[in-house]
Amino acid sequence: MPLIVQKFGGTSVADSQKILAAARRAVRTQQEGNQVVMVVSAMGHNTDLLIDLANQITDQAPAREMDMLLSTGEQVSVALMAMAIHSLGHEAISLTGAQIGIKTDSTHTKARIQSISTDRVRRALDEGKIVIAAGFQGIDEDFNITTLGRGGSDTTAVALAAVLQADACEIYTDVDGVYTTDPRVLPEARHIKRVSYDEMLELASLGAGVMHNRSIEFAKKFTVPIHVRTSFSDALGTMITALPEAEDQPVGGAALAKNEARVTILGVPDKPGTSLTIFSKIAEKAISVDMIVQNVGADGIADVSFTVLKDDLRATLKAAEEAARELKAEGVGHDDDVAKVSVVGLGMARQTGVARRMFRALADAGVNILMISTSEIKISVLVARPQAAAALRAVHQAFALEKPPAGAAAVDYTKTPRAARTSDVVAIVSRLQKMEELTIDVIALDESQARLTVSGVADQPGIAAAIFEAVADGGIFVDMIVQSFGREGKAKLSFTVPQAQYKQCHELLDKLVGGMKCGPVSGNAQVAKLSVSGIGLRSHTEVAIRAFRCLTEAGINVAMINTSEVRVNVVVEGSHGQKALAALQKAFADARQ
Ligand code: ASP
Ligand code: MG
Repeated sequence: MPLIVQKFGGTSVADSQKILAAARRAVRTQQEGNQVVMVVSAMGHNTDLLIDLANQITDQAPAREMDMLLSTGEQVSVALMAMAIHSLGHEAISLTGAQIGIKTDSTHTKARIQSISTDRVRRALDEGKIVIAAGFQGIDEDFNITTLGRGGSDTTAVALAAVLQADACEIYTDVDGVYTTDPRVLPEARHIKRVSYDEMLELASLGAGVMHNRSIEFAKKFTVPIHVRTSFSDALGTMITALPEAEDQPVGGAALAKNEARVTILGVPDKPGTSLTIFSKIAEKAISVDMIVQNVGADGIADVSFTVLKDDLRATLKAAEEAARELKAEGVGHDDDVAKVSVVGLGMARQTGVARRMFRALADAGVNILMISTSEIKISVLVARPQAAAALRAVHQAFALEKPPAGAAAVDYTKTPRAARTSDVVAIVSRLQKMEELTIDVIALDESQARLTVSGVADQPGIAAAIFEAVADGGIFVDMIVQSFGREGKAKLSFTVPQAQYKQCHELLDKLVGGMKCGPVSGNAQVAKLSVSGIGLRSHTEVAIRAFRCLTEAGINVAMINTSEVRVNVVVEGSHGQKALAALQKAFADARQ
């Protein structure tokens, strides 16, 4: 019999009427011939209220007791939900995380799932019961109650769907799915019928925030199709699967992260180990760093910029100043009035001219680009916060995101077959041992590229647009782009191109910069690009640091870097490629699939 997991978020169980409505939906699903597991969040804002209560007692609540407290929110909901189903004349059993056997590590308030037993759930399902699982919670080795971090019920739902090999995982919420961008910022945002795991991972971190990021990592790892939909009607929502909305669509969505702050360490010696020192210091404070933009240095000196959430700025500056002192850097600069605009698309990697289109749209809207960072499926720019909404609108329009893409495939909502459904249960169970561990699929070396750098890029709209238009018109394929924050209004823009096009590109740029407020142009005809890709790169912040550490130990200087949800890319001197590859392979040996 098909098995369906249905997760109801806080707003979908906010009062007794809503609980009864959710119960009716589950009963209906069961009557349609399915086994049903419900995963339920705490009612409404109950978790916030509990946190508030704790804060009234102390501002230093022990994390263990916090989990003891917060887990009660879900316990209330599951009990009420079971009663609701009984009242409708059907059988149900509520289970806490501990009763199911959701084992986690002991990191209270942000525990990671290690394994889930399925016996008890299966037994209850076979007895014809609807199983109601408390979201967000688990138990550690010593039977302490743990929680998975805010929004963690999504992760419980997807993890249960994975271990039970469910046919569908439905996430019921107060929005009707995923949009091309936040409809509260842009009313022209369009509802998407299907989005890929990778795009969703990037979008979630980019601020779309519909689902808990770790739940998407899980879904990707175990190929669980997710259907995000509203609990207030029967309208179909968005399927999150391995496939994007349309195969050849360059951009599937755009996102705005409003509350960013930029930090720049000025004048650090351009030698191995500097990034390691900086980012280890910040990681020690458990601050997560977003856009890391390190550009090629000049005269042995480089600037390293990155963004953090505005709320983390003060703590970050402390760590950055420590690092600057240790590195004998010139100083630390910052700006807390910036925002990040990004576009994401699985099809971007196979198309040229995507960056050009984005930069042109920004230039025409009069938006100055402060920093650029690209990965295979994402382009992010940092802009002044007052221009953020205009920038988002310009980009959304440039890629015609308000219109459904040509060639969008029909989406099968009922049962999306799992792309790579593993029938080998033993294999799954062994992989589940440490389900949320970092997994690295590929460590790749690309020795086919060259780097070009335009220095002295004036702090005004339109320069990146002009450069990438000229480059695209020359038929040159651009891969990685990095624009660092400029000093005295002069930024540095670097990008990689195929070695065969290096000379042509250099000449083209030399001609172009003469008539523009930028230059000179420099470059390296042979660089090596290394990529570490996998799942869990963002939630395991140590990945970038591990990469920096092993390259430092191998004495390799990093010329360019960018990081994303699914990948860390670094560009080094061409002759260091093989050595860097060996170092990375060794450093990540334990995380290989
Ligand atoms: N109740 C928890 C929270 O509010 C977990 C969840 O709802 O996903 O964060
Ligand atoms: Mg939620």
